[in-house]
Amino acid sequence: MRTKRREFLKVAGLGALAFPMAGSLGLPVSQSSAGKGATPGFQALEKDGQRRPNIIVILADDLGYADVGFNGCQDIATPNMDALAKNGVRCANGYVSHPFCSPTRAGLMTGRYQQRFGHENNPAWLPEDTKVGLPLTETFLAKHLRAAGYVTGALGKWHLGAAPCFHPNERGFVEYFGFLGGGHMYLPDEKNPLPVSKTWQVEYRIPLSRNKEAVTHTGYMTDLLSDEAVAFVGRHKAEPFFLYLAYNAVHTPLQAPEKYMARFPHIADEKRRTYAAMNSAMDDGIGAVVAALREHGLERDTLIFFLSDNGGPITVVPCSNAPLRGGKGQVFEGGIHVPFIACWPGKLPAGAVYNEPVSSLDLLPTALALAGAPPPDKPLDGVNLIPFLCGENKTAPHARLFWRTGGGTAWAVREGRYKLLKNTGEKQPQLYDLDADLGEQRDRAAEQPDVVQRLTASFEAWNAQLIPPRWEGPKSARKKQMPRKKEPRHVDPTP
Ligand code: CA
Repeated sequence: MRTKRREFLKVAGLGALAFPMAGSLGLPVSQSSAGKGATPGFQALEKDGQRRPNIIVILADDLGYADVGFNGCQDIATPNMDALAKNGVRCANGYVSHPFCSPTRAGLMTGRYQQRFGHENNPAWLPEDTKVGLPLTETFLAKHLRAAGYVTGALGKWHLGAAPCFHPNERGFVEYFGFLGGGHMYLPDEKNPLPVSKTWQVEYRIPLSRNKEAVTHTGYMTDLLSDEAVAFVGRHKAEPFFLYLAYNAVHTPLQAPEKYMARFPHIADEKRRTYAAMNSAMDDGIGAVVAALREHGLERDTLIFFLSDNGGPITVVPCSNAPLRGGKGQVFEGGIHVPFIACWPGKLPAGAVYNEPVSSLDLLPTALALAGAPPPDKPLDGVNLIPFLCGENKTAPHARLFWRTGGGTAWAVREGRYKLLKNTGEKQPQLYDLDADLGEQRDRAAEQPDVVQRLTASFEAWNAQLIPPRWEGPKSARKKQMPRKKEPRHVDPTP
């Protein structure tokens, strides 16, 4: 291990990481020596011909923990995702800050626990509502990077507010192609054989947008997003860029063209076969993006994060989070512990496994440190991961990680090997030793009341910093909007 480390330092040269900028060598951005408004060193850096790295975040939607080759999947080949793991660092304890879509994205984009600003539920599809979306008081990663001189692009699923004020172009993304809701049909309408629910009739069928212009949906969504990503890389090869590639794959509806379905004759279950095909299409897309980087000589100048926004929805889709318990929506590991890779050839170790818990909240501080951007005004909950993934900082990036859903109906805290969680509708929290019991099978709460007490206190201290959810989830909102039961017919007593 020592030799490997020495070799890495020799090859990568710590000098390659020693940009004259805040936070790149060990401290979280918020603790770095660069004060508020400090001039970052990037102008000098670029004058010297040293390029700041591109940053690509590839976010899968509802991808099962065990549905990628690098986490042991047997029936779906994911060679391109596996190549990211082989050429980068697999974060074996990679978490998202929420067990479902929109709040996770809110945390990722701000580097802050999204409950701090009330973004705790998915937004309903309300394009007229200027209150249901990531509050305008928060600053997006894209906006920070834009200010630091990066060109910024978002592709695919947005799900952070549908009103014009929440549009990606208003939040720091110079370029945007995708859809503003929580999902979309994968095929154009005329090729779409699926019966659709009422939600899907509207939200999942809105026209795609290029920036603020509606465009016709012409092909298989996953392929479209991959093609757009490849084009973005080519278009911006000469300047530092940030690309947010938010596939809606492998979220429902389950739809895949025969080209991908044909790869899985060994999967008998039609739903699993379609899910596999969707995942395979995404894997092809990731391969195409990496090939584009290689073609333009940018592979060693680009940090790629790959992760899922939450765990697989095991009760809805035949996906797998094994050996984790539960799935999307839950604070068991299956809801929040996701496939998570950081790949930066020549700079981060190749084929390494990092075991300390890391979070999607860490992406923003990492990106800002690499970009030489000054620390944001608001305190961050994430840290710059580079020194940790390089082995330069051997402590844990986080003393604790926290989760809360439903305004507190369910919550969890992880501290070292222990995780305390409370599910919706249950009174007593459960305690698990994740080092010994990753599948959360043996509740140790009764055996270790001291740990329960300590973790409960730390959760309560964190919880006291949060605000209630700013809006209800789409289901609750819809229920309220539904017409009330008809009043008994009024009978006019007069003749
Ligand atoms: Ca999701």
